[in-house]
Amino acid sequence: MSVPEPQTAWAQDRAHLLHPYTDFAAFAEEGSHVIERAQGMHVIDTEGNRLLDGIAGLWCVNIGHGREEMAETIAKQVMDMQYYNPFGHSTNVPAAQLGAKLAELAPGDLNHIYYTCGGSTANDAAVRLVHYYFDMKGQHRKKKIISRQNGYHGATYVAASLTGIHGTKYGFDRIGEEFISHVSEANLYAKPEGWSDADYCDHLVREFEARIQQLGPDNVAAFIAEPIMGAGGVLVAPAGYHKRMYEVCKHHGMLYIADEVVTGFGRLGEWFTSETLYGYTPDILVCAKGLTSGYIPLGATLISDEIYGTIAKPQCEGGVFSMGLTYFGHPVACAAALKNIEIIEREGILDHVRTVGRYFQESAQSLLNLPIVGDVRGSHLMLGIDLVADKASKAPLDLSEQAAGKVFKGCMERGVIVRPVGDRLVLSPPLIISKEQCDELIGAVAGSIQDFIASQE
Ligand code: PLP
Repeated sequence: MSVPEPQTAWAQDRAHLLHPYTDFAAFAEEGSHVIERAQGMHVIDTEGNRLLDGIAGLWCVNIGHGREEMAETIAKQVMDMQYYNPFGHSTNVPAAQLGAKLAELAPGDLNHIYYTCGGSTANDAAVRLVHYYFDMKGQHRKKKIISRQNGYHGATYVAASLTGIHGTKYGFDRIGEEFISHVSEANLYAKPEGWSDADYCDHLVREFEARIQQLGPDNVAAFIAEPIMGAGGVLVAPAGYHKRMYEVCKHHGMLYIADEVVTGFGRLGEWFTSETLYGYTPDILVCAKGLTSGYIPLGATLISDEIYGTIAKPQCEGGVFSMGLTYFGHPVACAAALKNIEIIEREGILDHVRTVGRYFQESAQSLLNLPIVGDVRGSHLMLGIDLVADKASKAPLDLSEQAAGKVFKGCMERGVIVRPVGDRLVLSPPLIISKEQCDELIGAVAGSIQDFIASQE
């Protein structure tokens, strides 16, 4: 028998993996960029390039890469007890402790936690819980969910249907459409000419009201929204928007689901942002990513006392709450989350984000001096940059020029990773970033945009 040639990770990956959100034709040509090691703010690829991680892995490595105490915590939990089933009345210590900690950190009375494996599964769980809740209340028709264009809620079947990003829909069946409806995104940069922020907010709230009337208030169960839209391009809503959408929900007996998968655990300088920054207390809050800083997968769906009180009754004689995952409250993931939260607290990372986040946003404004930068927006350590052909009219660039993709490559050559999304660039660095590293990130983006402009002349 011949001994196969040892293969590189690049070749094995190219031969076997179905990468998320990938154009397979380009992938067959180029394959993957293989990241081998990571430390602090940096990742190192198999070619030995050390790159400043401007996107925290994927909005998640909040405490930075390669923390030894995270590794020790995970190893210890594996040796103490790596897994036992969580069904029925069986539990484990880290899952219980994390439950208490999340209830302490969460706004309002979100005291009851359903654990999942990530953000998509937590959003799927939120929808199942909403449906179950209204069934338990005897409101069997109240099932429709309103989401938003350009919102991103994940890639499992229901989460993908909640997602409102047009390009994610091609070629896939749209099974959720009979109960999921999308209203406009809230994006101040797309506000019509001549409108004030308040006019724009009124318009969005009116549209929401009209959609509820169209679907029938008795049929509409919930609204789901990210506080700031992340994957849709860091889209920021006008002041007061979330609170007013929440009030409309309450008026119609609907639940408000806050998808804080990106905004939770410090990215905006708060554990959670709904109440502290936007002035409303959601009925359901979904988190993942920064919950473990990406050291190990975990998601959670937090529900209010009121929802819990309603669903915590048997739905029929001898009935039980029939929903749960093998890895609900996985002890290793929960131990990692507890350590991650301890690090954020001990190092004062939320305070750091409030300071460095302001600096990041202010220095990013300098990008507006470049002729193709139409908008620079965000909050704290979430930044979106729109590239346009004409600043005054906001006319888009020719897509075939692949401006954002080229700027991304230019940044990479400068030792910095950013994320292209259509004609936008998004940045979401680890929360431990220094002011100097903010300068390095923004400087690389500016230089790469200048190179792109020069290449067009
Ligand atoms: N919700 C939001 C706001 C997200 O940004 C994401 C992922 O980017 C998800 C949900 C899905 O999370 P996951 O990829 O962990 O399933």
